[in-house]
Amino acid sequence: MRVLAVGAHPDDLEILCAGTLAKYAERGDQVFMAISTNGEVGSPTLPKKEIAEIREQEARTSAAVIGAELHWLGYPDEFLFDNEEVRLKYIDLIRATRPDVVITHDPLHDYHPDHLTTGQLLWNIRVMTTVPNIKTEHPPCAKIPSLYFMDTIAGINFMPEEYVDITATIEKKKKMLAAHESQAAWLKDQYDMSYIKFMEICSGFRGIQSGFRYAECFRRSVTFPAASGRVLP
Ligand SMILES: [Zn+2]
Repeated sequence: MRVLAVGAHPDDLEILCAGTLAKYAERGDQVFMAISTNGEVGSPTLPKKEIAEIREQEARTSAAVIGAELHWLGYPDEFLFDNEEVRLKYIDLIRATRPDVVITHDPLHDYHPDHLTTGQLLWNIRVMTTVPNIKTEHPPCAKIPSLYFMDTIAGINFMPEEYVDITATIEKKKKMLAAHESQAAWLKDQYDMSYIKFMEICSGFRGIQSGFRYAECFRRSVTFPAASGRVLP
């Protein structure tokens, strides 16, 4: 299978679905990780340009842990908006990667406008990816991918429908998240939290709900036209 995960900021995918992406990669699926914004506000001390470059490098290091191909979309952190240019960019992302399944943010319940916009964008453009009269660099897709929404940050207001056991890939998930070194200082400064511990608690909590040591959870977008059945590993 071909799997595309799209996160709003560098490190969102690591927190919310990296254990599942690692499972896909381990069984031989091709994994793509795309990041909407450049993470340029994520530093208490460094200027925007400098921290954006560091964050891109960290995201590349993380993707390399599971051999995923990184797509850095580079929109300004905190200011991602849905417009024609942006939709065309996401349509072309789907056409370039031709995924069977797309995983992205819950467009209704997550906490940050960039998360909500990313999730909504993927939902908005999923059908347009197959439409020949909408031109982008890559040719139209032959089929509309299945669309899954991943957990929200801290699980708030997210009602899971599917759980993936990530007990066997939690160490890879930790390694991927730890690649985002610059965020250790930022999250400590901003929220007084350790991001590795935060991730372990959230994955452990979803594990308690589902009978695994660690788990990630998802909800399938079920709007017309119907996508194929369950595709999670
Ligand atoms: Zn985020």
